[in-house]
Amino acid sequence: MRDTWPLLERIAFPPIRRGPLHTLQVNVGYRCNQSCVHCHVNAGPSRTEEMPADVADVMLAFLERRRIATLDITGGAPELNPQFRRIVAAARDMGVRVIDRCNLTILEVPGQEDLAEFLAAQQVEVVASMPCYLEDNVERQRGKGVFAVSIRGLQRLNALGYGREGSGLVLNLVYNPQGPSLPPAQDKLEDDYKRVLGERHGVVFNRLYTFANMPIQRFGAILIAQNEFDRYLDLLQHAHLDANLGQVMCRNLISVDWRGYVYDCDFNQMLDLPLTSGRDARERVHLSDLLGVDVEGLPIRVAGHCYGCTAGQGSSCGGALKEAAE
Ligand code: SF4
Ligand code: SF4
Repeated sequence: MRDTWPLLERIAFPPIRRGPLHTLQVNVGYRCNQSCVHCHVNAGPSRTEEMPADVADVMLAFLERRRIATLDITGGAPELNPQFRRIVAAARDMGVRVIDRCNLTILEVPGQEDLAEFLAAQQVEVVASMPCYLEDNVERQRGKGVFAVSIRGLQRLNALGYGREGSGLVLNLVYNPQGPSLPPAQDKLEDDYKRVLGERHGVVFNRLYTFANMPIQRFGAILIAQNEFDRYLDLLQHAHLDANLGQVMCRNLISVDWRGYVYDCDFNQMLDLPLTSGRDARERVHLSDLLGVDVEGLPIRVAGHCYGCTAGQGSSCGGALKEAAE
């Protein structure tokens, strides 16, 4: 697979610095029950990397010491990590808001039959990938049979109260384009999703998040192979809005890998661009080094891929930046 970093690092991006830290995004491993075409972490069933118990302990200590408001757990399929439920329960005991980036099909994987009930009991916010409300489009991106399983997963979460008014159980969906194009307007697409999923499948949810595809990893390699890389980068750069710079997710979030090393965001983690104190670009910071350190004001490592966050309506872990800020 061709690495896109040599192409991305040549592209200048406006300098930005960290703001106050609100969110710890933790990638607990790359194992996944799926292997989607656009996956920016190259996750799949054969990946073996996963966060061990001692790193999970550091992460929980960091949440407590730094009084972090939100823990955003991602993977792979994060629920496959044996530490997942312990991490969730401990963070919830501290009053931390916990987000699970759930691929929905995991709810039917053997051994995960009680996962939906666990998430509901812990009041975990579920952010679920659903790249389209139409079966064909979902299966082209995520594999055969995925749509029906995903719908069953959503119905199961709905039956527990997820996405229903007054339940306190939040269910948000994620859309990303099929190919090298910008996502459509988030609010309009959300209305379409609600109408079609509601009418055809009785599914309800809270918000739809739209993300631009990042020109890295598997999707980046496809762009290069199809000779689309430059055109897609041009598209992102031409759609860049300075107004989005203040709200990109890296300003208030750090991303931690399964070993405990820290990055400005999940994308930089995948590009292996560690968080830097600004002194030495080769340094690698471990979360245990930051237990007593405030990262506010540190420079963020930016390059061409960052236009994926600032193009048009923008993209962050909370969807389009304009809506995310409201
Ligand atoms: S479900 Fe998510 S983590 Fe798993 S392969 Fe697909 S995009 Fe990657
Ligand atoms: S990819 Fe986005 S979130 Fe990551 S450093 Fe660039 S602007 Fe920030």
